[in-house]
Amino acid sequence: MNVKLNDNVLVIAGKDKGKTGRVVATSPKSGRVTVQGVNLQKKHTKARKATDVAGIVEREGAIDVSNVMVICDKCGKATRVKHAFVEADGKTKKVRVCKCGNVLDKTYKKQAKAADKKAEEAPKKRTRKRTAKAAEAPAEENKD
Ligand SMILES: [Zn+2]
Repeated sequence: MNVKLNDNVLVIAGKDKGKTGRVVATSPKSGRVTVQGVNLQKKHTKARKATDVAGIVEREGAIDVSNVMVICDKCGKATRVKHAFVEADGKTKKVRVCKCGNVLDKTYKKQAKAADKKAEEAPKKRTRKRTAKAAEAPAEENKD
């Protein structure tokens, strides 16, 4: 799948055609994605626990990945995805690229940003708590 978690996508087919939103869930096996605010379905929920409240909950349903296009954060257009290989930490990484040449992969971007930040913040010493927290949060990578 060319669409990954937290991507901003444009819906190009179906009842929510034209809407944009963030991808909140992906299921590569079935080739479907869940987009924030898209394909809202009413779910009747029963109170299973004492703390639960019964009622009708509106939530997003999954849509087929072919019905969305990734929006480039640089040029703002929905684009088909092409691939390129980028050197990062001595390894060659396959990244997604927009028509305009912008790299769409946030994990790669995050790494690049983190590396930049590290270089910037190296002289300043942060509190122990903060650095520990940063180390705990692993860079999430979603797999195809
Ligand atoms: Zn672009």
